[in-house]
Amino acid sequence: MYFCAMLYLVPTPIGNLEDITQRAVRVLSEADLILAEDTRTSGVLLRHLDIHKPMLSYHKFNEHQSVEHFVERLRGGETIAVVSDAGTPGISDPGFLLAREAIRAGIEVTCLPGPTALIPALVASGLPSDRFCFEGFLPQKKGRQTRLREIAEERRTTVFYESPHRVLKTLQQLAELCGPDRQVAVCRELTKVHEDIVRGTLQEAVAHFTEHEPRGEFVIVLAGL
Ligand code: SAM
Repeated sequence: MYFCAMLYLVPTPIGNLEDITQRAVRVLSEADLILAEDTRTSGVLLRHLDIHKPMLSYHKFNEHQSVEHFVERLRGGETIAVVSDAGTPGISDPGFLLAREAIRAGIEVTCLPGPTALIPALVASGLPSDRFCFEGFLPQKKGRQTRLREIAEERRTTVFYESPHRVLKTLQQLAELCGPDRQVAVCRELTKVHEDIVRGTLQEAVAHFTEHEPRGEFVIVLAGL
């Protein structure tokens, strides 16, 4: 007879350490095991929170091999908390596979509300937030043009993540497909000391990042058609 414990997906700060919730701290300090995308990165946070729990790696390179093992441990009654390097696990980060397999195995799964980059970007963009699409990272090569065309035709606000090396190119491609006057908000280093949001037309955003080299982490929020 198995005792089914819980799988917790636990959001961690995307920059500002004050954004960890009291519940996240409690869940992490009560878990039997913490699965971390990078044990060194999460180790720094956990030490800062004075949490000393067994930790194992769970990242995109081992999630397929290790998921059954962790489901077995959950079936055995352990409570497992999953964290990624920053933000909410499962949002452009590992988490989905274990959540799906744990649910299939009849284990209770919950995600704590907490930090993620997409929601503050959307809400602070000033663009309609009643309905929106989240695209994660766009494909770098194959399928990129198709995805960009789909985004250009979308009526809802679209939110996506972009690396600093591609921000300018992506804004230029969007300006070609959507026209230069479509509204955009380019959100940089959210919650950090150098948080900065450039709001305006695609043409204005292109001009801004042609002059100021994009550095740091970015979320792009594009107005719908
Ligand atoms: N799980 C995370 C979340 O819930 O937002 C996302 C992880 S994904 C691997 C990392 C990307 O998220 C970055 O490349 C950037 O696009 C976005 N991101 C994360 N933190 C950010 C921040 N502080 N400011 C702006 N974008 C951020």
